[in-house]
Amino acid sequence: MNLTIPYHLENYIGGELIAPINNQYLDSINPATGEIFTQVPDSQEADVDAAVLAAQQAFPSWSVMPVEERFKILNRIAELIDENLEVLALAETNDNGKPLWLSKRMDIPRASSNFRFFATGIMHFATESHSMEDKAINYTLRQPIGIVGCISPWNLPLYLFTWKIAPAIAAGNCVVAKPSEVTPVTSYLLSKICLEAGLPNGVLNIVHGNGPNCGEAIVKHRSIKAISFTGSTRAGERIASIAAPLFKKLSLELGGKNPAIIFADCDHEKMMRETIRSSFTNQGQICLCTSRLLIEENIYEKFKAAFVEQVKALSIGDPLNDSSRQGAIVSKVHFDKVMACIETAKQEGGTILCGGHAVKLDGRCADGYFIQPTVIEGLGPSSTTNMEEIFGPVVTLQSFKTEEEALALANATNYGLAATIWTQDISKANRTAAKVQTGIVWINCWLLRDLRTPFGGVKNSGVGREGGWEALKFFTEVKNVCVEF
Ligand code: NAD
Repeated sequence: MNLTIPYHLENYIGGELIAPINNQYLDSINPATGEIFTQVPDSQEADVDAAVLAAQQAFPSWSVMPVEERFKILNRIAELIDENLEVLALAETNDNGKPLWLSKRMDIPRASSNFRFFATGIMHFATESHSMEDKAINYTLRQPIGIVGCISPWNLPLYLFTWKIAPAIAAGNCVVAKPSEVTPVTSYLLSKICLEAGLPNGVLNIVHGNGPNCGEAIVKHRSIKAISFTGSTRAGERIASIAAPLFKKLSLELGGKNPAIIFADCDHEKMMRETIRSSFTNQGQICLCTSRLLIEENIYEKFKAAFVEQVKALSIGDPLNDSSRQGAIVSKVHFDKVMACIETAKQEGGTILCGGHAVKLDGRCADGYFIQPTVIEGLGPSSTTNMEEIFGPVVTLQSFKTEEEALALANATNYGLAATIWTQDISKANRTAAKVQTGIVWINCWLLRDLRTPFGGVKNSGVGREGGWEALKFFTEVKNVCVEF
């Protein structure tokens, strides 16, 4: 299969790879080098209209195709992703700036797992019946919705794009999908994989472009009946304001400001290792990364010394080198945003314990966007730094005396995606897990994912859940049928 990347990426509409109607493109930049890597279609409403038309034509046959046939195609897509792991991982790294070893170990394997998981899942998806003694029976149909829209962000490009597309098409829908314009390349390669796997034309349509034009055209389109969105709380709010009056089904996976609650009685070695990972993996650009470390007072100084020492040792370098623990920040815009947040932290009176500045590398990466992993202390829970999402390699430290105080600090933001709890006391762990205001809790671990579990946040971190049956339920419409005997 030819997975070369052309200078001009193309939309994937009705089984064809085509240029945007207006022939306009946006630059896609390799953040490790600052060079234009490729150009991505700047699609508009007319391209979305064409994608919807293609999806409408595909829907009648795809929606009634036996699940075993759908399984075979989705499973073939998973196999082709695995077979092309090296090419896809390199494309992801050049597009996003993350270390190549991370793309190989996490992003691309997870993309194939998403397809494999929902390929098999749909064959086991069952509906309910409610029997009324000797009088009647109700049975529930779960039918595909029709045309659905999937919009994803830049931080885990293929991983999150496929996390939406796979359940949507497994459930019998046809999809109009938009990856982030910042990291479009692996979704372009996915279109080629779908062609090779024999996915019928129009079942998946990938339209590239920015949020306000292409994204909003998807959200507004009256023939698109459901929107699954992952991205910032700001864009989620805008999307909800458009989709709600049109009565669309809506799933929103938004920002986070995740606490790690570290009690003195934890397994220190494991906690330290995992807290470094949970704070700085992917340069802190994972919605699940811990950004507020809450530490029990009597181990605060010991924690601080050991943590800062290990953060300083994280090597920042060319994402193509196996030894680089930290790669580039995804774009100049985001680099500037993270640097501005560090400036705000200083102005608010925060003390920078390590990092706090940009890093200038030599050679090929001289113009890349690199930031030293940064640890800040001395800011209270209501500071901007502790309230607002930064989404970069920046964490704060705060101390607490009691379990109640830990919870008050953890719950002090408007976000509620994930929390991590470190303690060997099983009762305290479960008590804290029950009271922390998040959709996901990890006790003595981080990012241990089972694709069957419900995934999503509360408060400003989102509405609805993805994963397992939740995703298949979201992408189907329920109908109750009552039959009197
Ligand atoms: P973003 O909101 O800027 O963009 C996300 C996607 O939405 C992109 O494809 C973008 O083009 C599109 N978009 C933007 N505005 C739009 C609009 N008005 N209408 C339709 N589409 C629009 O987010 P980002 O900067 O790409 O990603 C980072 C954010 O994503 C962070 O806030 C992070 O926490 C969040 N995130 C959340 C999860 C989760 O599961 N909760 C996972 C990953 C990332």
